[in-house]
Amino acid sequence: MTLTKEKYENIANSLQYCTKAFIDGKHVDSSSGETFTTENPATGKEIAKITCCDERDVDRAVAAAREAFEDRRWAGLHPAERKKILCKFAELIDKNRDELAVMETLDSGKPIKDTVEIDLPETINTIEWHAEAADKMDGQLTSSGDQSISMIVREPIGVVAAVIPWNFPMLMATWKFAPILATGNSLIIKPAKLTTLTMLRLTEFAAEAGIPDGVLNVVPGHGDVAGKALALHPDVDLITFTGSTVVGKKLLEYSGQSNSKRVLLEMGGKSPSIVMPDIKDIDAAAEQLAFAIFWNMGENCSANSRLIVHRDIKDRLIERLIEKAKEWVTGDPLDPAFNLGAMVEKPHMEKVLGYIEKGKAEGAKLIYGGQQLFPDSGGYFVSPTIFDQVTPDMTIAREEIFGPVLSVLTCKDEKEAIAMANDSEYGLHASIYTDDLDTAHRMSRAVRAGTVSLNCYSEGDITTPFGGYKQSGFFGRDKSMLANSQYTELKTIWIPVR
Ligand code: NAP
Ligand code: MG
Repeated sequence: MTLTKEKYENIANSLQYCTKAFIDGKHVDSSSGETFTTENPATGKEIAKITCCDERDVDRAVAAAREAFEDRRWAGLHPAERKKILCKFAELIDKNRDELAVMETLDSGKPIKDTVEIDLPETINTIEWHAEAADKMDGQLTSSGDQSISMIVREPIGVVAAVIPWNFPMLMATWKFAPILATGNSLIIKPAKLTTLTMLRLTEFAAEAGIPDGVLNVVPGHGDVAGKALALHPDVDLITFTGSTVVGKKLLEYSGQSNSKRVLLEMGGKSPSIVMPDIKDIDAAAEQLAFAIFWNMGENCSANSRLIVHRDIKDRLIERLIEKAKEWVTGDPLDPAFNLGAMVEKPHMEKVLGYIEKGKAEGAKLIYGGQQLFPDSGGYFVSPTIFDQVTPDMTIAREEIFGPVLSVLTCKDEKEAIAMANDSEYGLHASIYTDDLDTAHRMSRAVRAGTVSLNCYSEGDITTPFGGYKQSGFFGRDKSMLANSQYTELKTIWIPVR
């Protein structure tokens, strides 16, 4: 349940920010003494100055994480003990949920309704779920006969680095750190520069919960300095990343240039929705389609930014879609009356507006929205936008916009719909709308994407793996038991019986 705007403003006015790096259990300045500014994208005003870490600070954090791992202060705990500490961590977050929701909203422009109702509960649930799994991962005995005993055991990988995006700052960090910590690793997190505040505040709760010094470190800084230093570091065993495909590919190179550290990548998307003409409830489909592109201002890797609609149902669907788009209302992110807030920063807003101009210039038909909102506020607001008559070769049909911009393409049959859906370098998520069971099964197998949702927009829940085909991902999956196991190494122990 949300509070009133006035109550959130009061919380905002009384916030204390934790702005320093967290290394070896202490909040510290960077070696250079440098800071960077984080701002509120709804006003363009500075919130705080954040410690800016460079290679030297990354070295300190990796050394602390290595020492913590080698002396087994965390890895050596009984898994049930790690579970208890992580659940306490989740409890402390829960106790401070309003403060964290307001902080996330101020730093990122996300609407308070979402940070309260989605980001916070999901963050807490993610920590609890992976923590609960900590003492439920068994090894194996293999069928090697009675002359020997062969065991397969799982062990933590060691020192893990996590590089995080700005679109769900706390939740994306949690999708990484919860399974990483549950399985006994030590960790260094590099949050996105635009949104560091909540992760830094979480370090205080982590320490209070009893996560030992050196096990969880946070190094705010520039991606191409602190992030790169982590990815090139010879003593990092695995790097896990969520962000753009361009940066993800760099991490693969850095791994090759350094110690062949394992690399897990969650990257971009240009996800399709396909609507077949047999659907009976057009209204329900239109509601989900609007949610799929406008939620979180379209700053969502799995947003369905391409609508591929069968020509027989198109006009009726578009009419309903525009009605549903009107329910997505932009305003002050601290006011729970609004379900859309600000874009994360000015350059990103300009990038999104640039795509809107490109859509018009290349001949797509703007049928809804298409402009900057509240330019006098100092903030970065873009209206929900729909383009019709988009063809597969247009820029707005191919590139990830990461904003509230929907491209509508028209198809004549199932075969063409699947071909269009798969005509992308990405493969993160797809939605299929049909009331025919056979069509649903056929199409959900034919689309190449890590998640397919039927007659809805969904990323699944904590029990389901999340990640991408093609250039949307590289090996890794977030969430589910797979996330726990991917932060472990397999070891075979062979014992002859004499
Ligand atoms: P980004 O520019 O790739 O940045 C992601 C992270 O990488 C940030 O912490 C960034 O640091 C860091 N970084 C930048 N350059 C680096 C380098 N050379 N070496 C190491 N780290 C570096 O992505 P973003 O703009 O934050 O997020 C948007 C993208 O993330 C979209 O493409 C979206 O689809 C994707 N995403 C994917 C998923 C998924 O699960 N598949 C989920 C959410 C978002 P700075 O902040 O300092 O630049
Ligand atoms: Mg900010």
